[in-house]
Amino acid sequence: MTLQIELNGVNKFYGAFHALKNINLAIEEGTFVALVGPSGCGKSTLLRSLAGLEKISTGEMKIAGALMNDVPPRKRDVAMVFQSYALYPHMTVEENLTYSLRIRGVKKAEARKAAEEVAATTGLSHLMKRYPRELSGGQRQRVAMSRAIIRHPKAFLFDEPLSNLDAALRVHMRKEIRALHDRLKATSVYVTHDQIEAMTMADHVVVMRDGIIEQQGRPLDLYDRPANKFVAGFIGSPAMNFIPATVVEDGAHIVLDFGKTQAKLALGSRLASGSSVTAGIRPEHIKVVTEGQGAFDVPVGIVESTGSATFITSATEPELTIVETGRGAARSGEIIGLAIDPAQLHLFDIATGKRIE
Ligand code: ATP
Repeated sequence: MTLQIELNGVNKFYGAFHALKNINLAIEEGTFVALVGPSGCGKSTLLRSLAGLEKISTGEMKIAGALMNDVPPRKRDVAMVFQSYALYPHMTVEENLTYSLRIRGVKKAEARKAAEEVAATTGLSHLMKRYPRELSGGQRQRVAMSRAIIRHPKAFLFDEPLSNLDAALRVHMRKEIRALHDRLKATSVYVTHDQIEAMTMADHVVVMRDGIIEQQGRPLDLYDRPANKFVAGFIGSPAMNFIPATVVEDGAHIVLDFGKTQAKLALGSRLASGSSVTAGIRPEHIKVVTEGQGAFDVPVGIVESTGSATFITSATEPELTIVETGRGAARSGEIIGLAIDPAQLHLFDIATGKRIE
């Protein structure tokens, strides 16, 4: 596999502000990459740097093997798809699609043929004579994508393209964009603050915070083995539970501390006795059992059901979120037992937040 996008030691400063810190990324051709992280983490800066809309301060940026550091945006051969669609309101769908080809000197008939081909792929053939104002949000999004596709770029760069759409359409467009990526055998870089979008769409997820890459890898590898507490808390919904804990009895057991209640669990790993750690447990890895039958008992706080799943919040400090499939039997105010498989515990260093093996 050839590397389509390569970043080595990339830094970006806005004046004195260090927005990208030593970014290293190697993206193989055909990969769908998601850049995800909280607001201000630098994901848009990274995407805009790839597009050439921002100039990186130091480091090396390559697209299809060629150094891009000083190459202007229009010569990079990448296509950006924005959330605001950026369609020309006074042009029909067809004109929106052919415009970029026409300004490059492509003949009218040829440009129209290219537009028809792309429109057939994206399901726009019957809408070619419409103006953007006569289209739904999803259709406009398709026009924006078609306009990118028609140029046959080396990479597609998506900047939160779905954030203007309602929840149902987002889910639909997510699948549509991914299917299109597969059909075109494209290389795509997709910025989102929505970790579900990142997890469901991407082959490779890059989690950023404060200008650094906290972790990158396959979606489920990040979910199963988060490198630190930040990634553990960011990936997964509802979020992982974190509980202060102490290792006891020569590392044989761990005690989870809920203030009024303690829960003692067997621990397979060999940690020094007495060490304080943060224990993490995913909501679906806690099992509700009869009072007295689990590792510990807790009072039930809030119970919420979506029909297919039930979310239980314990009235403890810290609270625990538990997810059960189906309706669940727990009622607010009652006492339930909780069972935790110690193998599902994630342990993090209190000071650094790093995962303890
Ligand atoms: P969001 O999800 O809110 O769009 P983001 O992760 O995309 O966030 P960026 O837009 O890349 O974040 O911004 C990263 C940091 O760089 C932010 O702290 C932002 O304030 C800062 N920044 C972005 N553009 C500039 C600029 N032109 N001048 C100075 N600082 C900037």
